[in-house]
Amino acid sequence: MVQAARSRIDDLFGLAMIEGLKRPAPLADRYVVLARSVGTRYNVRIPPEYRELYCRGCSSYWTEGRTVRSRLRGAHRVRTCLVCGRVQRTPLRPRATASGEPAESVRLGEVPQSMLAEEPTDLDEEAAELGSPDEE
Ligand SMILES: [Zn+2]
Repeated sequence: MVQAARSRIDDLFGLAMIEGLKRPAPLADRYVVLARSVGTRYNVRIPPEYRELYCRGCSSYWTEGRTVRSRLRGAHRVRTCLVCGRVQRTPLRPRATASGEPAESVRLGEVPQSMLAEEPTDLDEEAAELGSPDEE
């Protein structure tokens, strides 16, 4: 039964993709609604490759420029549904690399600070040496 539900979701998203190419595409939205209802009834997740094709708020099939606006903001891709206004933020890079890079940059930032902290002490010693002949 789960297998049948999965193939039904595949079929419905295939139909939605074909229907979404048409200029007004009311059937594409309907296919998304049906696919999602099949998923909830048989406790089957919508595959991740299909999850970017529709709005999770109003179930409208997303066509770039017509029903969705995609923008790059920092490290995220922000997709705004033009039907209901729901915003979906997707990180551009996986979390493992994104969390690893700041740690390296902090380490690189600490090295110049320690070098700068050592330099003034050398200058102070030189200044003290230069200052001693004036005292005599
Ligand atoms: Zn929407």
